[in-house]
Amino acid sequence: MTQLILATHNDHKAKEFRDILPQYSVQTLADLGHDDEIKETATSLEGNSFIKAETVFKRYGHVVISDDSGLEVDALNGAPGVYSARYAGGDPRNDQRNTEKLLDELQGASNRKAQFRTVITLMNTENSFQFEGIVKGTIAKSPRGEAGFGYDPVFIPEGVQQTFAELAANEKNKISHRANAIKKLLHFLNEHPRFC
Ligand code: IMP
Repeated sequence: MTQLILATHNDHKAKEFRDILPQYSVQTLADLGHDDEIKETATSLEGNSFIKAETVFKRYGHVVISDDSGLEVDALNGAPGVYSARYAGGDPRNDQRNTEKLLDELQGASNRKAQFRTVITLMNTENSFQFEGIVKGTIAKSPRGEAGFGYDPVFIPEGVQQTFAELAANEKNKISHRANAIKKLLHFLNEHPRFC
């Protein structure tokens, strides 16, 4: 089975990649025992996604995929965007405080439209390519549901009544921003079987 290194420690993300890429053996940084933090110093999802892929590629010299994602809220001019993980400040990141801050910022807002956006980078010795995935939706007035991570309890995807956190993982993973980008990645890998 062809191996791909996924530059993340996030098990939710790993599951999303593995579900859509069952013909690949996807190894995470946790699987490799890689504990070093990768500094995400760029000001765009594209930039941070590239930094993660490049850092891990330099360390392991093996084909890498990475993703960087964020929540872009219309009424906040696209914030928190690339700063989604630490929107409420603090280290380590705190999903609950980030969500509370978001709901505070949107108090009284009539436009609650938002989108999750992800940028996946695929890198080998010679080349790197990026794939974007988006899911549009709205921000709920209060958190609902226990599943998932991050802003899932307040994100209601278009065409669905539940928040991401109320959906089963396999339901979220059919429509999520990452799923849309991973499908583009899979299409590319199928068209370029010698990339890995
Ligand atoms: P990352 O840098 O790609 O890990 O994502 C940055 C932040 O965006 C995460 O810490 C979450 O707060 C948020 N985020 C990204 N993807 C999702 C998702 O699928 N659901 C909920 N929040 C997400």
